[in-house]
Amino acid sequence: MKPAAFDYRAPATLDEAVALLAADPGAKPIAGGQSLMPVLNFRLAAPSLLVDLRHLPGLGDIAIGPDGVRLGAKVRWRDIEDDARLQIAHPLLRAAVGHVAHYQIRNRGTVGGSLAHADPAAELPGIAVTCDAAIAVVGATGPRTIPAAVFFTGPLTTVLRPDEIITELRLPPWPTGRHWAFREFARRQGDFALAGVALYYDADERGRASRPHVGVIGACSWPHRLPMAEAALAGRTIDEPTIRAAAEAAGAAVDPPDDLHASAAYRRALVTTLVERALRAAAAPTLTLPRDRGREGRGRGSG
Ligand SMILES: Cc1cc2nc3c(=O)[nH]c(=O)nc-3n(C[C@H](O)[C@H](O)[C@H](O)COP(=O)(O)OP(=O)(O)OC[C@H]3O[C@@H](n4cnc5c(N)ncnc54)[C@H](O)[C@@H]3O)c2cc1C
Repeated sequence: MKPAAFDYRAPATLDEAVALLAADPGAKPIAGGQSLMPVLNFRLAAPSLLVDLRHLPGLGDIAIGPDGVRLGAKVRWRDIEDDARLQIAHPLLRAAVGHVAHYQIRNRGTVGGSLAHADPAAELPGIAVTCDAAIAVVGATGPRTIPAAVFFTGPLTTVLRPDEIITELRLPPWPTGRHWAFREFARRQGDFALAGVALYYDADERGRASRPHVGVIGACSWPHRLPMAEAALAGRTIDEPTIRAAAEAAGAAVDPPDDLHASAAYRRALVTTLVERALRAAAAPTLTLPRDRGREGRGRGSG
């Protein structure tokens, strides 16, 4: 199918783009078009006006500093993959983005588009929630910063107002020595995940887990942290019984949908398994593994 007819503007400034969105309730921004164009082609949406963000200045940068990592809304998956600095500044982000879609889509899909589209199985929203990120937006009433934890409210639904444009994702600083891992399961490389898990913790002076964060994608209506799994890790040495307890807590905490791709029970079991595998990978340098599981860990973190 072809999309319904729409007007098209490609403004040169953010102010102009916001004014266009504010003036027409049927207007929508377009960035990489990798999610919006399929939606239009299936006529699941019929905006009256597309406001193309391609000429807006200053939204395509990756900034790394003492305040963490800032990703401009027009940063593409490929930019993240190609930026070697992120291997140290945010290895979990880089590992997760390595699972996004296929080569061609990674050349066009953007940070802002992914956050606004809010697919429950998308990797970046999961990283944003797991890592306590903040999302900077600008609208007709001015700028605001929204914690990722409250940004997503349902499948393909966020608190973004129709006149607001995402400008930046802000990820807090990533300490050296942090233990982390990303694991997901998709039918084919590059497909949306049936379920995925991002997690990290720091080690205290006695090697116990502090500030554990465990997030899940694909198994809930929007990305979530799993406080019960985090509680099973906090203050503990990450050994096999602790890993098992956290994994069971994670599986019990999710309430996935039954759909065409997988049953709820399968997705729940997947979350348990992925948390288990991710924790083993994150703990690899310090964990004494049963013999047949020794291949899982690849250094202090792994994706
Ligand atoms: C075959 C296929 C497989 C895919 N697999 C994956 C996958 O495994 N993981 C994954 O995460 N994604 C996947 N995607 C989605 C892809 O990553 C998209 O590129 C991304 O979700 C949207 O980015 P975009 O820049 O293309 O946004 P667009 O398609 O241009 O826009 C998407 C939505 O965001 C809005 N929008 C865009 N930019 C902004 C902004 N700055 N401010 C406010 N609203 C904005 C648009 O109005 C629209 O509603 C896949 C897509 C395809 C087609």
